[in-house]
Amino acid sequence: MAFSALSHLECPRCGATHDADQIIGLCPCGSPLLARYGVPAFDKADLASRAPDLWRYHELLPVRSPSNVVTLGEGMTPLLPMTRYGASIGVERLLMKDEGLIPTGTFKARGAAVGVSRAYEVGVRKIAMPTNGNAGSAWAAYAARAGMEALIAMPIAAPEICRREVTAVGARLQLIDGLIGDAAAYVRSQSGYFDASTLKEPYRIEGKKTMGLEIAEQLGWSLPDVIVYPTGGGVGIIGIWKALTELRDLGWISGPLPRLVAVQSTGCAPIVRAWEKGLTESEPWPDARTVAFGITVPKALGDFLVLQAITETGGCAVAVDDADILAEQHLVARLEGAFICPEGAANFAAIRTLRDSGWITADDQVVALNTGAGLKYPETCSALAGRTTHAC
Ligand SMILES: *Cc1c(COP(=O)(O)O)cnc(C)c1O
Ligand SMILES: [Zn+2]
Repeated sequence: MAFSALSHLECPRCGATHDADQIIGLCPCGSPLLARYGVPAFDKADLASRAPDLWRYHELLPVRSPSNVVTLGEGMTPLLPMTRYGASIGVERLLMKDEGLIPTGTFKARGAAVGVSRAYEVGVRKIAMPTNGNAGSAWAAYAARAGMEALIAMPIAAPEICRREVTAVGARLQLIDGLIGDAAAYVRSQSGYFDASTLKEPYRIEGKKTMGLEIAEQLGWSLPDVIVYPTGGGVGIIGIWKALTELRDLGWISGPLPRLVAVQSTGCAPIVRAWEKGLTESEPWPDARTVAFGITVPKALGDFLVLQAITETGGCAVAVDDADILAEQHLVARLEGAFICPEGAANFAAIRTLRDSGWITADDQVVALNTGAGLKYPETCSALAGRTTHAC
């Protein structure tokens, strides 16, 4: 029985198909490529005996040989009831999937684990990537584990902790006086490296889709009404949509998919603006800035897929202010003991708004993704300390 049911790569824009067993980035038409699978030789009952990490879904992941799996134990994060906080905003059935608990402290480890493993498998030995910080930490760590070389280009304004994580594992760090787009231009100027930028390679999204597989499994193969996601490059939300679509095709879940909500900061909300204007692609956001640095992406390569995901599931896109993000981060910490990242807190600000407007009803079961640990953000940590009499 095959470890992976990977069949080929498909372009969601022009429909072209490509051989998956080669080093490949974008489709020649410029679109990201998506991995497609044949019918896997396993059933959900088989999962019971597997380890609680994301590799339990290996048939639906692209790595063909177990010997190429590079893992630090990522995946199967808890899906926590947010009882006290949920009651305070009138959403009793509120759950938080806490991605702050995985290696390198953010869900980026999922994309890095699968992306690095598959890149290694097809023969890549040197990767380069632009990052706002968290993806760089994760890819540097998994590259080190795989014995691969990594070049990570990061804006100077990215958090210092991410720089330290990158250099600690021996990757080459290039600081860029600019935004992530400038870091991307630097990466393009370097030869000899495989460009592992967001959605420029097809497999990071396969790692991130495991969040969707886990939510379905953790809810006993029933689905919530709403899933709320802090959206930057959009890989997480596209991945969750892809996962649920794949499970539906397998017949493991049925009924309507959850309404997917893309949350951004008012300091960088290209997807929200496109959604409000009814566009199928976003326009670059000028002067992007927010405390939720992981979602500071002025123009995402996969924007059209994010917009498609929220449209087809009856979802929406919402922008929230930084001040509200910080207030919600504080409240969640106080009411639930969970020190979440600002990106995760943006979800709760959005859920509050959507509940107030009636878009989320009192009966809806809502899953919010906390994409990272609050501990990685010393700046917001001191902002929180400033709001209370306690230091943090
Ligand atoms: C990267 C990142 C996001 C955005 O994820 P995408 O999949 O790129 O949309 C959200 N939260 C945190 C903490 C991140 O690091
Ligand atoms: Zn194409």
